[in-house]
Amino acid sequence: MTTIGLIGGMSWESTAVYYRLLNEGARARGGGLHSADVMLHSLDFAPIAEMQAQGDWDAAGDVLADSARRLERAQARCILLCTNTMHKLADRITGATRTPFLHLADVTARAIRAGTSRRPLLLATRFTMEQRFYRDRLLAHGVETLLPDETQRLEVHRIIYEELCRGRIEPGSKARYLEIIGEAVAGQGADGVILGCTEIGLLIAQEDLALPVFDTTRLHVDAALDFIAEPASRAA
Ligand code: GLU
Repeated sequence: MTTIGLIGGMSWESTAVYYRLLNEGARARGGGLHSADVMLHSLDFAPIAEMQAQGDWDAAGDVLADSARRLERAQARCILLCTNTMHKLADRITGATRTPFLHLADVTARAIRAGTSRRPLLLATRFTMEQRFYRDRLLAHGVETLLPDETQRLEVHRIIYEELCRGRIEPGSKARYLEIIGEAVAGQGADGVILGCTEIGLLIAQEDLALPVFDTTRLHVDAALDFIAEPASRAA
């Protein structure tokens, strides 16, 4: 069984990238007509975003647990939650299912540890930057993160929800993100950048920067392809 289970739709703009990268990766690894064996449960993001804004995380957790159970019943070999922010509720998924869950912060931390960056800047939603669930998980792997200042965090967050999650890719916003990164390098000694929101890769990429860029969407996809390549007895 090699089915990769995705809980997506948050937003679908980034889930579409997951789908494309998984298939490109499967073709690169397997050659010929190989493509990824994927089961996607794509949620309607509007009510979820409303729950986030209202702080109704419990209701959002119910939605994610239900989605994970469905993927488990469909015999997914592993489950990926295609959003960093909703990893706040990762325990609701792991508590509801026995299917291996590939936690995005674990995957990201391993990639950082394998490289040279020791002071990466975290760009993400305000939930991910300002609450502890994500940074603490990175810290558990020995990865300390830097943050933009408060005004910059608001801008980064606004661009995610008002533009990227709605399919708007604005050159001005890209320039602003690059400026924020430049200021973190000059002011805080940042030596890497975590694209800690699955849409940010739509705006900036490694080619835009001299520092190492950790694109969580790409890292997650690679981790899933590695996972299903392992024998089931070892991976489970
Ligand atoms: N996809 C985003 C993330 O990785 C933000 C949307 C959401 O709140 O789920 O955090």
